Formats: sequence, structure tokens, C-alpha cells
Amino acid sequence: MSETFLSELTGSFSTPSAGNPTVAMVEAAYKHHKLNFRYINCEVLPKDLSNAILGARAMNWAGFNLSIPHKVSVIQHLDGLGESAEIMGAVNCVVNRDGKLIGENTDGKGFLQAFKKVDAVSGKKIAILGAGGAARAIAVELALDGAKDFTIINRDATRGEELAKLLVNKLGVSAHYVPWSPGFKIPDSINVVINATSVGMADSGNYDLDIDLGSLNKNMIVADVIVNPPQTNLLKSAAKLGARTIDGLGMVVNQAVIGVKYWTNFEVDPAIMHAELKRVLKL
Ligand code: NDP
Repeated sequence: MSETFLSELTGSFSTPSAGNPTVAMVEAAYKHHKLNFRYINCEVLPKDLSNAILGARAMNWAGFNLSIPHKVSVIQHLDGLGESAEIMGAVNCVVNRDGKLIGENTDGKGFLQAFKKVDAVSGKKIAILGAGGAARAIAVELALDGAKDFTIINRDATRGEELAKLLVNKLGVSAHYVPWSPGFKIPDSINVVINATSVGMADSGNYDLDIDLGSLNKNMIVADVIVNPPQTNLLKSAAKLGARTIDGLGMVVNQAVIGVKYWTNFEVDPAIMHAELKRVLKL
């Protein structure tokens, strides 16, 4: 075949975008697998989102990620939605399918993939700390995969109740909201505890969830969405008790693997992305 100087384009639209390491992971995978694709991290303000998407259409991009603050506002510019994105009302990955831009959500799918390496979802009683975008994405994918029992613990009652209602009304599972009282005790009956809040992030200055760590036990699976640092205080405490733990790196790597599969139809090696992420974040 003769040399081509034209690559397929993918990328990300967000603001602020400079701290987002996805570009490093995805480009490392493209290079390793010799895929003729590029990934471009773009700073896009809310007022420019519409034009950015028109540009992607005009240049026939294979697809792109959306991050803060575009995950909901992007929907009005798309031609259709995948099942979980439709239920959540949020899109973090757009796929060009025969010229139509279809919105998917890979955040929860990435979590699910990481979870399934540890145990099956079905039959578990799940407690989710938080009710924002990450919590919503995780809860919807777990419910679509067979989880039937959710306890949503959140400070803000409106968001907590909304997520519980969405799970009951749109997915037919059992879900209830519990207000987050100080030193919250995880009930003994819970099998899986997921921190889906932003507490524990290196740059937040807030490392400790306001929960009673003594209420965790070794039979629980304890997961955290925080990427940096991957070993949060929650996960360290759970591991000390002998509980199985899942860190946020698996979720972020798997969601990128799923996005690249959508765009290229090729399953990249997650280990390549994992290693590159650890390298660029100096983990
Ligand atoms: P949102 O802003 O949508 O939601 C934030 C959530 O955190 C809310 O439920 C909020 O509660 C809760 N929260 C914030 N501060 C506290 C606190 N001090 N105590 C208790 N609850 C608190 O953010 P996202 O859901 O988009 O992101 C949440 C985290 O998930 C971030 O750290 C993000 O980086 C991470 N993430 C990781 C991914 C991965 O692949 N590993 C993918 C996506 C996100 P309230 O409603 O009461 O304000």
C-alpha cells in the first residue's frame, strides 16, 4: 500500500483541558498498535461547543470525548444516543457512525469492566457515596448489568433523591437515598462500597471521606473513582481490613479502551495505557 499522510482524527473537548491526561494514554495506544489515528486535546469554551462539533463533522472526525462542562450540553448537537447515555442524560464519548454523531457514555462502562475483574455484579447490595456525574454513570451501568439493590448516600438531598428515582423509574431496581450524616456508618448488609465523590483527589486538599472506616469489613468490595492518588485513604483502610479494592485507574483506562474501540474498531492493550498514565502522572 502506498504511504498515506492523512490520519483519522479523534480528541477531546473540555475546559479546563490542560490537566487531562487522556491524550497521553490514547496516543500511546495508537502508536503501540500502529493505528493511523491521532487524538487532539482541545480547549473548548461552552460558547464554542457548537462550532467545535461542526468542525469535527466537517473534518469527518471518527469521534471525540467530552469532559467538564460539556457532558450534558453536547446532547443537543448530536444525531442520537446509546442506551446508557440516554438513561443518564450525559455523554462523554461521541462516535461517528456512518456520518451520524452518536453519544455514548463510557465512564460507567469503564468502572463496570474494572469491577468484573474482581467479582460479578448481579446479586450485590451496593452503596454509592455521591450522586454526581460519576455516581450516576456507575449506578446506571451496574443496574443495566444486573445489580438490583442500591443505597445512595449524598450530602445534597435533591441530587441523591434524583439518582435513586432514576434507578427505580428507568431501570426497575430497588434504590433509596440516605442523607449523609457525619461519621456515616456503612450498613453491615452492604457488599460493595463505591466512593464516587471528589473527596480524596490530590489537588482537592480533602482526603478523608466523612464515614466511619470501622464500619467497613473484609467481606466488602471497596472501590474509588479517584485517579490521583490511586491509593486513597478509603482504599488503604479497606485493604488493611483484607477487603478487595478497586482503584480509579482501572476505570479511567477501561473507559479509554472502550472509546478507542468505538472509534477504531480495534481493542487496544489496556496495559499500554495504564503504564503511560502512571508515567505521565508520576504515580
Ligand atoms: P460532580 O461534580 O458531578 O459530583 C461530585 C459529587 O461529590 C457530588 O455527589 C458531591 O456531593 C460530592 N462531594 C463533593 N465534595 C464532597 C464532600 N466534601 N463530602 C461529600 N461529598 C462530596 O463530579 P463527578 O461525579 O463528575 O466527579 C466525581 C469524581 O469522580 C471526581 O474526582 C472525578 O475526577 C472522578 N471521576 C473519575 C473517573 C475515572 O475514570 N476514574 C471518571 C469520571 C469522574 P453534593 O451533591 O452533596 O455536592
